[in-house]
Amino acid sequence: MVFRPTPLTAAEERLRGAVRRFLAEELPPGHRPGLGLGGRHDPEFSRKLAARGWVGMMIPPRYGGAGASPVERFVVVEELLEAGAPITAHWIAERQTAPTLLTFGTDEQRSWFLPRIAAGECWFSLGMSEPDAGSDLAAVRTTATRRTGGWVVNGTKVWTTGAHVNHFFVVLCRTSAAGDRHDGLSQLIVDLQAPGVRVSPILFPDGSHHFNEVVLDDVFVPDERVLGQVGSGWHQVTAELAYERSGPDRYLSIFGLLKHFVAERGAGRDDFTRAAVGRIGAKLWTIRQLSLAVARSLECGAAPAVEAALVKDVGTTFEQEVVELLRYVAGQEIDPGAAGMFEALLAECVLTSPVFTLRGGTTEVLRGIAAKGLGR
Ligand SMILES: Cc1cc2nc3c(=O)[nH]c(=O)nc-3n(C[C@H](O)[C@H](O)[C@H](O)COP(=O)(O)OP(=O)(O)OC[C@H]3O[C@@H](n4cnc5c(N)ncnc54)[C@H](O)[C@@H]3O)c2cc1C
Repeated sequence: MVFRPTPLTAAEERLRGAVRRFLAEELPPGHRPGLGLGGRHDPEFSRKLAARGWVGMMIPPRYGGAGASPVERFVVVEELLEAGAPITAHWIAERQTAPTLLTFGTDEQRSWFLPRIAAGECWFSLGMSEPDAGSDLAAVRTTATRRTGGWVVNGTKVWTTGAHVNHFFVVLCRTSAAGDRHDGLSQLIVDLQAPGVRVSPILFPDGSHHFNEVVLDDVFVPDERVLGQVGSGWHQVTAELAYERSGPDRYLSIFGLLKHFVAERGAGRDDFTRAAVGRIGAKLWTIRQLSLAVARSLECGAAPAVEAALVKDVGTTFEQEVVELLRYVAGQEIDPGAAGMFEALLAECVLTSPVFTLRGGTTEVLRGIAAKGLGR
C-alpha cells in the first residue's frame, strides 16, 4: 500500500480560486450547507456547474467533458463539499457512472449518456444492494431473463439513493445460474420511469428522503442497455467501487458543522476546545493528504483500490468522531428546530452520521480489504 505525498501545482491552485469565486457568486451568504452527499438536489445548480466544465470533468472532450485529471476533479470536489454546495443531482452519475461507461460502455452508450452527464442533465442511481445482499453482493437475487432483443428483469433493490429523482440506475443482476457465485452476474442500465419499476421511499431517522426500495416487476431492458459484458458484472462492479471510496466526499461531509462551530462558538474559548479543534484539524489534513495521494496515483494510471478502501475507512470514522467531539464540546441536547446554524447542523449530523460508515461499504468490510492488501 503506497501513499506518496503530493503538492498541488500552481495551475491546480488557480482552479481552486476559480471554483471559490463561482461558489461565492452562486451560493447565497448564510446558506445552509449540505452535509456532503446528503445535500440538496438542485438541477439548476448542477447545470450551472456543468456550464463551467465542472461536472463529469474527466470525461474526454469528444464526449462533451473537460478531459480533466483526477487531481483537478479532486480540487473542484473539495471546494464544493467545503461550501456544502447542492451537488446531489449530478453526483453519482459524475463520480461513478461516467468512469464506468468510459471503461466498459459501448461507443453508442458513451455517445448518448456522457454528453448528457457532462451537461448535468442525466442523473443516475446505483442498483447494487438488495434485502439479503449488501456487503455480500455476489448474493444478489434480482434476475434478468433472456427475451428477443433484450432482458426481462425481476427483483428488489434497497437503499437506492436518489431513485425517486434520478433518470436511470445501473442494476447488478443474475443473468445465468453459473456454478461460481461470482460468475453469471451482469450490469444493466434501467430507466427508472420504465413500466414495471416501482420506487418507494425509505426515510432517514430525521425524516428526510434520500434513499428508496425499488421493485422491478417484469421490466424490459433492451440489449443496447447492457453495460459491459454479459456475465462480467462482478468484475465491473468491483472496479466501480474504487471510484466510490477515496474522494473528499468520504471525509468532508461534516465540514459545514466544523466551520460553523468555529465561527459561532470560537475555537479558542478554553483548553479543551482548543485541543479538540486542533486534533480535528490535524486529522483532517492527514486524511486529505491520503485522499489526494490516491487521486494523484489514479492520474498516473494506477488502480489503488486497497488505498481507496483505507481512505474511506479512516475518513468516515473521522467524520463520526468529529460529530461526537463537537457535540460533547458544545455540551447541549440536540435540537433539530434550532435557529442557530451550528445547532441545526449538529442535530442533522447526529441523526444522519451513522450512515457514513455504511454507505459505499461498511468499516468491517473495508478493513478486510485493506488487511488482505497489506498481506500481499
Ligand atoms: C445512506 C446510504 C446510502 C446507500 N446508497 C446505496 C445505493 O445508492 N445503492 C446501493 O446499491 N446501495 C446503497 N447503500 C447500501 C450500502 O452499500 C449497504 O448498506 C452496505 O454495503 C452494507 O450492506 P447491508 O446494509 O446489507 O449490511 P450487511 O452486509 O448485512 O452487514 C451487516 C453487518 O455485518 C458486517 N459484515 C458483513 N460482511 C462482513 C464481512 N465479510 N466481514 C466482517 N463484517 C461483515 C457489516 O460490516 C455490518 O456491520 C446505501 C447505504 C446507506 C446507509
